[in-house]
Amino acid sequence: MSEPPRSALRRSAPSERPSGADAPLTAVGETLPQHRARKRFGQNFLHDPRVIDRIVDAIAPQPGEGLVEIGPGQAALTRALVARAGHVTALEIDRDLAAWLRTQFTPQQLTLIEGDALAFDWERFADEAPATQLRIVGNLPYNISSPLLFALVAIAHRVRDQHFMLQKEVVERMVAPPGSRTYGRLSVMLQFRYRMARLFDVPRGAFNPPPQVTSSIVRMQPLPVAELPIVDAARFAQVVTAAFGQRRKTLRNALHALLDADSIAAAGVDPQARAETLGVGQFVQLALREPPRCTLRR
Ligand code: SAM
Repeated sequence: MSEPPRSALRRSAPSERPSGADAPLTAVGETLPQHRARKRFGQNFLHDPRVIDRIVDAIAPQPGEGLVEIGPGQAALTRALVARAGHVTALEIDRDLAAWLRTQFTPQQLTLIEGDALAFDWERFADEAPATQLRIVGNLPYNISSPLLFALVAIAHRVRDQHFMLQKEVVERMVAPPGSRTYGRLSVMLQFRYRMARLFDVPRGAFNPPPQVTSSIVRMQPLPVAELPIVDAARFAQVVTAAFGQRRKTLRNALHALLDADSIAAAGVDPQARAETLGVGQFVQLALREPPRCTLRR
C-alpha cells in the first residue's frame, strides 16, 4: 500500500472512519484539542511524524498480527499501527482519552481496554488472546516502566517481541553488559528472559510537552523457552536482588544470608567478586545452589 501525501491526512467523521489497512498512515495533528497533558499519567505525546514513522518502521507491523499498545494517548502510534496491521488492542488509563479514542477508530480497528496496565491481568489476557504471538508496543510513562517490564515477563512465552520508548537511562540499564557502570538488577532480570537491543534515541522535542530527558527505543525478544535454564524463579530473583542490594560489597558479604563462600565457589564464582562483574549464567549457577521449587520454563 502506498502512503498518502500528508496533506491528504485529515480527521474522519465517525460515519466515514477509515477501515483497517485503508486507514491513513501517520496522522499527526489529529489530537484532542482541549486535552491538557496529565503529569500523573506521564503524558508526553509524540508529535514528530518522522519519529513516529521510524518507530513504526522498526516494529514493521503486518496485517493479522496480535498488536497490543500500552498507553495509546492521542493515537500518534496507534494510527500508524492500525494503518499497517488493520487492528490494535490498546490499554489506556486516562478516561477522557479512552472516550476520545473510541470516536477515532471502529471496533474492527481498535479494541480499547480502559484500565491500568500495572493492575491488568496480563496472563489471562494472553491466554484468551486469539493471536498465538503478541507484539507489545508502547511509549511508556517513566514512572511505570520497571514494574510493567517485570509484569510482562509472566507472558513472555506468548510474546513475539516488545518495542518500548523509555527514558534513555533506563534503556541503557536494560541492555548494559556485565562490568559496565549501568549493569544491575534490571539488566540481569531482563537479559535472563529477553534478547534486547537499543534501536535509537528520540529527542525531547519530538514530544508535546517535552519531557525532561532523552528517550530511547528498545526491542525485546523473548528467548525461546527451550533455551531457558531450569531454575527456581523466586530464588534467582532473590540472589540477584541481594547481590546488587549491596553493590560495593563482595558476593561473599552481599549473599551471606543466602549462600556461604563455599557454595559460591562451588557455583564456579569467586566469592570475592562483585555483582556487576557476573554474567547472567553465573547468577543462574548461584541460584541453582538451592533445589528448584518451580521452573521459569512455561
Ligand atoms: N502513545 C502516545 C504517544 O506516543 O504519543 C502517548 C504516550 S504517553 C508518554 C503515555 C500514555 O500512557 C498516556 O496516554 C497515558 O495516559 C497512558 N498511561 C499512563 N499510565 C498508564 C497505566 N498505568 N496504564 C495504562 N496507560 C497508562
